[in-house]
Amino acid sequence: MTILARRTKDLKPSPTLAINAKAKAMQAQGIKVISFGAGEPDFDTPQNIKRAAVKAIEEGFTKYTPVAGIVELKDAIIQKFQRDNQLSYKRSQIIVSCGGKHSFYNLAQAIFDKGDEVVVPAPYWVSYPPMISLAQATPVILETKEKNGFKFAPGDLKKKVNKKTKALLINSPSNPTGSAYTKEELGKIAEIAISNGFFVISDEIYEKIVYDGFKFVSIASLGEEIKNRTIIVHGVAKTYAMTGWRIGYTAGPEEIISAMDNIQSQSTSNPNSIAQKASVEALTGPQDDVGKMVSAFDERRRYIVDRLNKIPGVTCYNPAGAFYVFPNFSSYYKKSYQGKKIANSTGLADFFLDVARVAVVPGGEFGADSFERLSFATSMEDIRQGLDRIEESLKKLS
Ligand code: PLP
Repeated sequence: MTILARRTKDLKPSPTLAINAKAKAMQAQGIKVISFGAGEPDFDTPQNIKRAAVKAIEEGFTKYTPVAGIVELKDAIIQKFQRDNQLSYKRSQIIVSCGGKHSFYNLAQAIFDKGDEVVVPAPYWVSYPPMISLAQATPVILETKEKNGFKFAPGDLKKKVNKKTKALLINSPSNPTGSAYTKEELGKIAEIAISNGFFVISDEIYEKIVYDGFKFVSIASLGEEIKNRTIIVHGVAKTYAMTGWRIGYTAGPEEIISAMDNIQSQSTSNPNSIAQKASVEALTGPQDDVGKMVSAFDERRRYIVDRLNKIPGVTCYNPAGAFYVFPNFSSYYKKSYQGKKIANSTGLADFFLDVARVAVVPGGEFGADSFERLSFATSMEDIRQGLDRIEESLKKLS
């Protein structure tokens, strides 16, 4: 008898969390590591949101809540979709979970079966393929190219679709590339989904973090037919600097939300009661802090993209949203340091950590080995110094 279940065999820990842990361990030894690894805003959670949580504690709002979230929060989410996306949902079409990751996990458990195929455009967020596999479905990777802004064309998608296709995943703006689809592009994707009868899972967690006037559009808002085939995964973590609070939410067809509710009721029960109250404030309270955070990200984005593009042999796509850059470092892969060849994105990330004392996440983990992911959710000073270190270290390669 083996100890572990078969489903754990190929399961690895999240590489982004692992890189951060390694960088923190080095820092604990007194080594000054500059980390571009974190997938979270470096800002504090806004005061009004924290105060709402304190009030919830003081008022004794510390007990179990309904599994799918309190009515007040569901209504705040419904309002948000109406206000920002012109989408109307009923309470029975909304479920609150313990973070966007948990939302996606429950969704995968609710709709995927063995034999189902799920089209995942690459570069993809590291957690999609493992969560699809844990639900026994098969991730079908749809590669996109840097020169096309990391976006797939309708023809590319059609080639991956067959009778087994249960869903397509869209993450716009994207982690790790920051690429985002326009309304017109989404319209073409919606047509393919409708004519082939598959679902669209739209991860909109970076909706509010967009630049240069990019106009975010939810694919679900393009008509009743596509809305009925779309499940939106969202959360408060990135918009409101609330990564630790663990609140995500899903909107979609009632039948799917109800199945997710059953799964949640037999696993985690309700998400944290205090964090739910804080999330009501986040979604309905003043939004000024969001604008301030996005402006700060924007300043850093301009700087980091410009500097990376000036490094010989490096190209860097200018992201439309989110807080990551995904530069192409592959021209350095055949080079060596002290007789040791840099083989791939992991090799270069290890080199950066060991020699430059800079943490980045290897692109291979996102399904695109020519690249490294750098988060610019860190101070300007660290970005400046980190890039100096990267530039200097690359000169040591021959
Ligand atoms: N979706 C994407 C694309 C993400 O990058 C993340 C976090 O890194 C999540 C979902 C989940 O966020 P959380 O579980 O913190 O709400």
